Amino acid sequence: MTIDRLDLTAKLYQPGVYPVVERVAAGQRSAGPVVVDLDPTTFCDLACPECISGKLLNQGRFSPERLAALAGELAGMGVRAVILIGGGEPLAHRGTRRVISTLGEAGVAVGVVTNGTMIDHNLEELAAYASWIRVSVDAATAETFRLVRPDRRGGSVFDKVIGNMRKLAPVKTGALGYSFLVIVRRGPDGAVEGNHREILPAAELARDIGCDFFEVKALFDDEHHVIGLDPAILAEVSAQIVAAQALAGAGFEVINSSTMDSVRRRDGPVQPKDYHRCGVTELRTLVTPSGVYVCPYHRGNPAARLGDAVTEPLPEIWARSDRGLVDPSRDCRFHCARHDSNLELGEIAAGRGRPVLDRDHDLFL
Ligand code: SF4
Repeated sequence: MTIDRLDLTAKLYQPGVYPVVERVAAGQRSAGPVVVDLDPTTFCDLACPECISGKLLNQGRFSPERLAALAGELAGMGVRAVILIGGGEPLAHRGTRRVISTLGEAGVAVGVVTNGTMIDHNLEELAAYASWIRVSVDAATAETFRLVRPDRRGGSVFDKVIGNMRKLAPVKTGALGYSFLVIVRRGPDGAVEGNHREILPAAELARDIGCDFFEVKALFDDEHHVIGLDPAILAEVSAQIVAAQALAGAGFEVINSSTMDSVRRRDGPVQPKDYHRCGVTELRTLVTPSGVYVCPYHRGNPAARLGDAVTEPLPEIWARSDRGLVDPSRDCRFHCARHDSNLELGEIAAGRGRPVLDRDHDLFL
């Protein structure tokens, strides 16, 4: 059997990770995270008005030497998968190429979330070692790209991004994705502006480039609450997603993110949680130049900071830090993508877990 890569609870039952999952479900600490989100730098060459990390940008990076050492620490700790991401554009750090090859050669799975402007500088390593590369494009034309993803001078680098994806598509060994965050706002004159009319053409472009998947997502505010859409715009967006889904096939997948389902259901901003410890923080962590944090939702939150990986080796931080400093019932009242994983850990603890799978499929828990 295969498992859907968005099925985060099924991923817990893979034999390569189940022993640690079982220990964590029983309330024990892990010897190291299974998955690490790594921000090599807080620098970004774009200036997207809706950037969720806007306040955290351009505040530092790992030195190339420290970044290289960190890659070795991750491999040495037995981390199974690393996602290069930001706060910041991960491919903007000149040390990222070496991180990708160190991890790839050590057998650690690598995922990359990028704005696409610097794929060409990292092409060889991305092609050889990345299990997946997700490019945040959010547009189908240069003009709309300028509106939602302007560079720091207000220009559009759409052609550069698409050109880079076209360079990567024929040489990649992993999956290439085109991500589309639906952005609708009031412009300076009060009129509605956004990218919501470009979903279908963007999906067509993604398929033409040779992408493996196209993903539509809803926007979040600074507090991680999903932002609703006006009913008429939502209808237009939904119709385009349906039309885009007709393009799927022959290795091209169209993913309707669960965040869009939240918009459709008009979910409120609060996702109550009745547990006080997040087991997922034993399985995943976030490493950034400003600190190591329990998860990306708490990026930059001093109350969720485990240590400083600029000055201290990650294994030491992991050995002495308390991942229980976050209480989900109090600190994570927004929608968390790993809520179901935490509930599943509760099922395993109660003896109601599912059978372990026969092989590993996707270690990006
Ligand atoms: S429950 Fe809280 S700490 Fe755990 S992954 Fe979700 S947001 Fe992070």
